[in-house]
Amino acid sequence: MAFDCDVLIAGGGPTGVTLAKLLARRGVKVIVAEKEADIYPLPRAAHLDHEAMRILQEAGVADEVMASSRQVSRYDFLNADGEVLLRFDDTARTGPGGWPLANMIHQPSVEAALRRSLAREPGAELHTRWSLLSFEEDADGITATIATPTGERSLRARYLVGADGARSPVRERAGIVFEDLGFEEPWLVVDVLVDDPSRLPVDNLQICDPARPTTCVLMGAGRHRWEFMIKPGETPEALSADASIEALLAPWQVAGAVRLERKAVYTFRARIAERWREGRVLLAGDAAHQTPPFAGQGMCSGLRDAANLAWKLAAVCAGHAPDVLLDTYQPERVPNLRATIQMAITMGRTVCITDPEVAAARDAQMLAARAAGQSPDGSVSYPALATGAVLAGAIAAGEYFPQARGANGQALDDVLGLDAWLIARADLARAPLAAFAADIGAWFDAHRVDALLLRPDRHVFGAGDAVALQAGWARHAGGLPVRRA
Ligand SMILES: Cc1cc2nc3c(=O)[nH]c(=O)nc-3n(C[C@H](O)[C@H](O)[C@H](O)COP(=O)(O)OP(=O)(O)OC[C@H]3O[C@@H](n4cnc5c(N)ncnc54)[C@H](O)[C@@H]3O)c2cc1C
Repeated sequence: MAFDCDVLIAGGGPTGVTLAKLLARRGVKVIVAEKEADIYPLPRAAHLDHEAMRILQEAGVADEVMASSRQVSRYDFLNADGEVLLRFDDTARTGPGGWPLANMIHQPSVEAALRRSLAREPGAELHTRWSLLSFEEDADGITATIATPTGERSLRARYLVGADGARSPVRERAGIVFEDLGFEEPWLVVDVLVDDPSRLPVDNLQICDPARPTTCVLMGAGRHRWEFMIKPGETPEALSADASIEALLAPWQVAGAVRLERKAVYTFRARIAERWREGRVLLAGDAAHQTPPFAGQGMCSGLRDAANLAWKLAAVCAGHAPDVLLDTYQPERVPNLRATIQMAITMGRTVCITDPEVAAARDAQMLAARAAGQSPDGSVSYPALATGAVLAGAIAAGEYFPQARGANGQALDDVLGLDAWLIARADLARAPLAAFAADIGAWFDAHRVDALLLRPDRHVFGAGDAVALQAGWARHAGGLPVRRA
């Protein structure tokens, strides 16, 4: 049976649409089936990090997202007396991804930008009110049954990606279970429209008050967020009533400065799917993992999945690389993901304490650690790739390669495009790399090498001897072309 597309993606959330865009840019024919008529309207992501912004850059929406995002210079964990237990400082500065470390956003606006960007790709289709019902796999591909407004239809694809969220029907049907990392806390999330920004906090805050653990963070322009822990004995219904929200916001003295826009109750969880690939079926985003939101990493992680998977799926679909390249996806992503989830759990365990005695002990321990200069303050960074499609044993293999900007403000990735690159020191004098010669040259100096091979997702395949790098690349990525200046 002929293929309707190379890749069918179940789920038009941020992971699915980003993946579709990155695939379509590489010439892959892709169809996104999205169950709902509209973008999910309730409060979710408020923060994207510099790496996520870099992926949105490749998806063609970073400038638009930046224009409505806000930067924040500090993320503080305070006790009930307002003392600093933990501080992440200077978060507005540019990170290695070439964008500010912390960008506060409104998720539906980001998703709308992504969908508009996807609509510009002739090789991609997104269908709303298309619900994936089932699928069968054979030696060559997947046959999926989809419920559409005009009846059921069958669709044939080489690969199916389940980017269908935490409840993922694709994951369920593939019989994949979660590893539970042991975090489960119910919270009320409240987003407001801001009429008077001068009356709102300018930093991101976790209020570690056992009487009511509370999060207060910026969002995209014109909005602000509070999250309130639902304590044992309370019901979500009672706490989320409008009168209750008014009482919860009273200590913040924002009456008249904000208007309630939306609210939702979530149980924050930490889980990782045990398998991310089953034959021609792959999982990405919340379908593959969930994190409590305290580190603002759920959507960021889904975007990283998309960036990791896109070039590999494209290479395999084009016949450049063997199918086993896809086996590197899970082992590359899981250690990074585990670190982000562990950070979120640590933050969550710090905040979600409702016993006053336990909270007092926490405060004493954290204040002492800070006074002694032993607090894990500073900026967060997550591990590089340790295994997978990297040249094992080579210098810098798996490292995240920083995105420099040229003197005219041009970003490195915009020049490199979608390809893998072999960059030697001698190439730095030539277009288009000359504008970045100082930064890349400094990277060479720091690593004491004269060449590096950069993967399309801007992780370093390896550095060192150019001939060995290219031979290693051929073993992993087959004939996927490598560009040179
Ligand atoms: C309170 C809260 C705060 C958060 N804060 C942050 C933050 O600050 N930073 C951050 O990075 N992340 C944050 N997150 C997490 C982030 O919102 C999610 O990780 C992200 O939305 C996951 O995207 P996704 O595309 O993988 O899944 P989803 O956005 O859930 O999309 C899945 C899509 O699949 C569709 N679907 C389901 N079943 C089918 C089917 N059978 N057929 C077709 N389509 C189907 C659904 O309708 C949905 O549109 C937060 C989450 C919450 C709840």
